[in-house]
Order: sequence, then structure tokens, then C-alpha cells
Amino acid sequence: MGERLIYMSGKFVPQSEAKVSVFDHGFLYGDGIFEGLRVYEGNIYKSREHLIRLYESAKSIMLDIPMTIDELEEVMVETVKKNDLRNAYIRLVISRGPGDLGLDPFTCKNPEIIIIADQVRLFPQELYDKGLDIVTVPTRRNTPDALNPKIKSLNYLNNVLVKIEARRAGVLEALMLNHEGYVCEGSGDNIFLVKKGKLITPPTYLGALEGITRETVMELAKAKGYEVVETPFTRHDVYVADECFLTGTAAEVIPVISVDDRIVGDGTPGPVTKELIQSYRQVVTEDGRQVYPEKVVNITA
Ligand code: PMP
Repeated sequence: MGERLIYMSGKFVPQSEAKVSVFDHGFLYGDGIFEGLRVYEGNIYKSREHLIRLYESAKSIMLDIPMTIDELEEVMVETVKKNDLRNAYIRLVISRGPGDLGLDPFTCKNPEIIIIADQVRLFPQELYDKGLDIVTVPTRRNTPDALNPKIKSLNYLNNVLVKIEARRAGVLEALMLNHEGYVCEGSGDNIFLVKKGKLITPPTYLGALEGITRETVMELAKAKGYEVVETPFTRHDVYVADECFLTGTAAEVIPVISVDDRIVGDGTPGPVTKELIQSYRQVVTEDGRQVYPEKVVNITA
């Protein structure tokens, strides 16, 4: 496989030449924002929703993206096309850009816009069939009044610490609690419980990203007639849930079968989780931006 072509502020450059300045405040301070999207069979799933979240994060940190949302969507499509991908992961990164060594972001005149499209690193199917063991970790979620987790910022150290604690506990993912002990989310995914046929997820004001997969899953579940409630819950509620699963662009819908060594439900992916895994996989080729519309053949004609 040849080198990927990376979009960097107006140009496509080979991966080996795609470099940022050591004075870039994204590198020096985590000053920037990002998005992660998936392409399924040439469809950038919920492209607009991801871009809107990106522009909202930018507004919150007072970073002016020097492109309209339409222009950014077009270069994203172009990046997928140039790399000849039909199924891919897209990483959009907007850093504050190069400035001086001080914190002041107003020394950074040119935000760096980076788009990487690459093969998706899929989780093994076995994890979806058997489910994940996870733990809760001592590291708490950033409080919304300190650094709001709704901002998808380049400052992911909170999440990295959680990943370290998960790996040291011998599992792949972990749950963060907020400063009051309520469950927030995983290091890179939102959490759902199923109890007595009802779906429960924490409200994002507790300290969680407004996940696009979370939103999709809530819509799918409601359409199937399930009651969905956003309410705070504790570790105890997770231990005694009938089912538990995580959601995210990369992970999609992934079952959890134990938390802190407590078996959830009967220790296998539950029926509601399985149903939602299936439905999610069905909708991802719809509702997005087609990368290769010229190649869509109308076979019903
Ligand atoms: N929470 C965090 C902290 C994340 O990084 C992600 C992944 N972007 C999610 C939740 C899931 O969000 P989405 O469904 O939009 O990918």
C-alpha cells in the first residue's frame, strides 16, 4: 500500500511529509479540536452532525475555522476520494496553529486544518459476540465548569489517563465517574444500560461528549418502541443492570459483560444490545454524504 495523502491547510501531501510545527499550540498545549468519522460503503455517516459538533467546539474555544462547513465537507470528501477508500475512518484535526511559546492563542494566526482518511482499525468481531470486560477507574471526568467534555478538544489527557488505568487493570476500556461519583462515559465512548426493558444513559451535563452514535442509538431504540431515559446513575446501577453497552463512532455498539468483576446480566450480550448492534449496522450506509455519487447504480430501473 502506498502512502496516504493527507490534507493540510490547502494542500494534499504524502503522509511522510505531513508535519506540524513544534510551535503549534495544538502540540504545545492541546489547543485545538477534532472529530472522528466513519465512511461506510462510500457514505460519510452523519457527516453534517460531526461537522456541526466540530464548529460548535471551535466556537466554544474561540477558534475561527477559516473555511465554511460546506468547504470543509468538500475537502473531506476529496480526501477520501484521493485515497480511494470506500470504508474508512476520517480524523479531522484543527489546531490553533503555530504561535510563540507563550500560552496566548492570539499569537497563532493560522489554524492548521488536517484531514486524515485511513483504513478503519476494526475491533475484532469476537468482542461483539462475547462482549467486553471493563472497570471503573479512580481518575474522574473533567468537570464541565473546568474543561467541558462536550468540547471535543485536543486536550484528551483525562481520557488517556483512563486508558492507562484500564490497560493496567488488564481490560480494554474503562468508565469514568464525575466528581460526585455518577457514571459519565468511557475513555472514548458513551454508556447505556438496559433495565427492565428500558434504556438508560447519563445526561451529558454530568460530563460526557454528546456522542453522535449515542444520539443514533437513542433514536433507533425509540423507533423500536423502547423507553429511553437520560438520568444520572452510579456504579451500583451498572452492576445490577440487565444489559450494558458502549457506543462510539469507532466502536459502534459494543456489549459490556462485566464491570469491576461484577457480571452484568447473565454475562453474555443481551437481546436489546444485539438488536441495536444489528440496527446500527443497517443504518450507517444511509444518512450521510456520498463520496462517489457518480458510481451509484440504480438497479431498480
Ligand atoms: N465520548 C468520548 C470521550 C469520545 O471521545 C467519543 C468518540 N468521539 C464518544 C464519547 C463517542 O462519540 P461519537 O459517537 O460521536 O463517536
